Amino acid sequence: MFNLEEIKLKLNKEQQEIKETLEEIQLEFEEVVSERTGATDELADQYEVKSETSLQKKILSNRLKQISRALKKIEEGTYGKCDNCHLDIEASRLNIDYAVNVCRKCSRG
Ligand SMILES: [Zn+2]
Repeated sequence: MFNLEEIKLKLNKEQQEIKETLEEIQLEFEEVVSERTGATDELADQYEVKSETSLQKKILSNRLKQISRALKKIEEGTYGKCDNCHLDIEASRLNIDYAVNVCRKCSRG
């Protein structure tokens, strides 16, 4: 059996951390953009920061969605079930990442 209270705490904690990281990234990004001077190498830097920022944001947003989904499943009483085939997700999988929402088979498909 899973300790749902403990998992919920972990998920809530990670959710909070990701939100804070997203805010930090956004602030840093705005700082870089506001330092616009027009020099070509700086524009290249800005471009790099821009694509790096959007990539980071995308990864974090996806993780955030995954966590929200897992939290919702705890509430619904379906935690540990695959979103796709509705069978149990392997415990070994959940031990590695307690926010996974699909079983091994479905994650490959
Ligand atoms: Zn499945």
